[in-house]
Amino acid sequence: MTSRTSQRVGPAALERRRAKITADIAALGLPLPGSLVERRTRCGNTGCRCHRNPPQLHGPYLTWTRKVDNKTVTRTLDSAQADALLPLLDDSRRLRELTAELETLALQQVRDNPTQPDP
Ligand SMILES: [Zn+2]
Repeated sequence: MTSRTSQRVGPAALERRRAKITADIAALGLPLPGSLVERRTRCGNTGCRCHRNPPQLHGPYLTWTRKVDNKTVTRTLDSAQADALLPLLDDSRRLRELTAELETLALQQVRDNPTQPDP
């Protein structure tokens, strides 16, 4: 059970944190959805080293994966493509973190307001 009296944050402190987070969001570049994943794969040739025991898998290959219409879409990248996309993917991850921090502040504001339900 959460207490309305514990970890109370004053409205001024809450506003300072909100302003800092939104300034950080404003400083971000374009957030590219998805993530960069290193994959090692097995091919269709059963005589290949990737089918031995222990297997020597192919790769690693750099891939960019993301959800499109609830399906995972994967694109294999060369290193130049990966270098170009990595900062955009980092911006997307950072944006999600900052959004989560804003939501935490909103929850604190609701929790500290006795006219609102205890979240
Ligand atoms: Zn193979």
